[in-house]
Amino acid sequence: MAKTRTIGIAAHIDAGKTTLTERILFVAGRIHRQGEVHDGQATMDYMEEERARGITITSAATNIEWDGHRIQIIDTPGHVDFTAEVERSLRVLDGAIAVFCGVGGVEAQSEAVWRQANAYRVPRLCFINKLDRPGADFHRAVESIRLRLGARPLVLQLPIGEGADFHAVIDLVSWRELDFQSGRHSFEVRPIAPERLAEAEVERHRLLEALADVSDPILHEVVEGRIPDAELLRNEIRTATIRCAATPVLCGSALRDIGIPPILDAVCDYLPSPAEAEPARGTRAGSGEELIRACDPEGPLAALAFKTLWDPNGDLTFLRVYSGTLRAGDMAYNPRLRREERVGRMYRMHASRREPVAAAAAGDIVAVVGLKRTRTGDTLCPRGEPIVLEAIDFPEPVISCAVAPRISRDAERLGIALAALEREDPTFRQRFDAETGETVISGMGELHLEIAVSRIAREHRIDVEVGPPQVAYRRTIEGSCDVEGRLVKQTGGHGQFAVVRMRFEATGGTEVEFEDRTAGGVVPREYIPAVEHGIRLRANRRGEPPLVGFRAILVDGRYHEVDSSEIAFEAAAAMALDEALRRMTVTILEPVMRMQILAPEECLGSILGDLHARRAEINDVSHEGPTSVIRGRAPLAELARYTTDLRSMTGGRGTSNLEPAGYAPVPASIAATLAAASPRTPGGRNRRAS
Ligand code: GDP
Repeated sequence: MAKTRTIGIAAHIDAGKTTLTERILFVAGRIHRQGEVHDGQATMDYMEEERARGITITSAATNIEWDGHRIQIIDTPGHVDFTAEVERSLRVLDGAIAVFCGVGGVEAQSEAVWRQANAYRVPRLCFINKLDRPGADFHRAVESIRLRLGARPLVLQLPIGEGADFHAVIDLVSWRELDFQSGRHSFEVRPIAPERLAEAEVERHRLLEALADVSDPILHEVVEGRIPDAELLRNEIRTATIRCAATPVLCGSALRDIGIPPILDAVCDYLPSPAEAEPARGTRAGSGEELIRACDPEGPLAALAFKTLWDPNGDLTFLRVYSGTLRAGDMAYNPRLRREERVGRMYRMHASRREPVAAAAAGDIVAVVGLKRTRTGDTLCPRGEPIVLEAIDFPEPVISCAVAPRISRDAERLGIALAALEREDPTFRQRFDAETGETVISGMGELHLEIAVSRIAREHRIDVEVGPPQVAYRRTIEGSCDVEGRLVKQTGGHGQFAVVRMRFEATGGTEVEFEDRTAGGVVPREYIPAVEHGIRLRANRRGEPPLVGFRAILVDGRYHEVDSSEIAFEAAAAMALDEALRRMTVTILEPVMRMQILAPEECLGSILGDLHARRAEINDVSHEGPTSVIRGRAPLAELARYTTDLRSMTGGRGTSNLEPAGYAPVPASIAATLAAASPRTPGGRNRRAS
């Protein structure tokens, strides 16, 4: 276990993540022909959709061996539209390589991922790539890591030669030069050339100073005027990296095969083993008591399903085992399902093949066939020691559209395909709307839904017709009010009787809360859950935006020995909420997206003008060379086809990232239009614009 590393490679689009991954797989001997990205052969991007778009959407896992270590690489997506994917892959990583372009340095899009990695305390190495390109500047890139990311970079290597002449690096730890001119990945090691010694000494001094800030042993050496030996240096760099107190920086060119083996050495030297990574945290299923599971193969099983991939021969569930050992054929308990599932065949994944394995122990990542109901985010554990590992918080979908097969006999297969997508991606939902007879899919943005539809076409070969996108509105109330809900039908035979007196209060939140404040059994205890259920059902009635952000308090009530029932109390509670909605001001809420737009500076004026018309709020405009970076928020409803529009405004050079950033009230004028637009309006006939 001490020789296992579980890492991800994270990068801004185009920084060279795919190329670097390819080179790493090649150097480690797992693949023998390198796929260049531009011909769409990259091994990690095995999903066709990713190839077509040239971006990495899902997390595949692959294994390599290096210097007696096993490195498990989780493919982290680089595109911020897929926040859920980034979150979930960070969750199962023990470390990451952050790739930056030597020309562009830290680009705006990398900041979001870096912040997420900070939040999950993922130790990182930086690799400054593309130093073979004209205009590349290693030191400027390091500065941007320090300034833009607020990191403490530890420069461990210096490039020798600029642009096309770049062919070697000075390694400040081993105090040697590594020359990659001789051929692919074989390199020559030699002492530092006399003409470069002065520069190397200056940089080593800087490295020691930076490290001394976070390491007492190094501080001690520096104060004594000694140069620490390579072993002490490696140890202290390792400690600082694992504590997330500093970030080693290496350099190279993935395309020209410069600097690849040292990056793998650095992964082994500086990133933590599963045992050194933070222990897994969770709660006891049922009781909520906090539990910690140390990385111990002999301990009780705790495994997290972090990815499900549809496969014609049965879904593949990717598991990270945090504690215990899981064997093929075992029964494993899923606390969410409250049942055991049989673990079928188990595989260790390599870039393009699966290797069957009999067991997976703490620290391992495996793909399993046979878990029919286990979903992404679920925990597997022993029935007797149930634990729920910290769940990943996925945002609620904010946009939806109707889909239908072009050929009606595909309907059943479409249902199966959508269900598979839903299992794979927790931010993707599908449902059948009985009222309209339509199948509706929902997700995190237009691009997300587009990709889902084209995957259905490519992977499942179903031609789908897609309706216009619909924004997922919500409603909330303002202030508070006291109402009564009464269901009294006692005209002969078996009657129905339930009376509830309720108070509704706005909370400003996103939840529906329920509280029982009745005294002395005025409403028998067995009916209280029915009251709550009635409120929740009414708040989420089909065909209306869900009502959120309020507390329903049961204050008083009356019941009848014979005529009261759960159903009666459910109905009375719903009636109370209906009455409250008639009396209170109901506000419509719309999803708001956080935006980051990168575009050539000369297009800034037209982009800002267009954003203004889309009701956007601009928070910041900055410049990175010839590129303008615009940050702000805008209502999702105004962002239809934004990616396409931006492309045409910028001659194809603008890119945007949009991610859900909560809900905000719809302005009154627009709320009125919405209410008038259709019978299934967000506000309903009771809406009064705020
Ligand atoms: P990703 O989007 O981060 O996965 O980046 P890719 O690996 O797809 O690389 C984007 C483009 O940059 C491709 O055309 C690569 O051939 C090119 N590229 C990647 N690494 C290097 C490098 O070290 N030097 C140069 N000059 N180009 C590179």
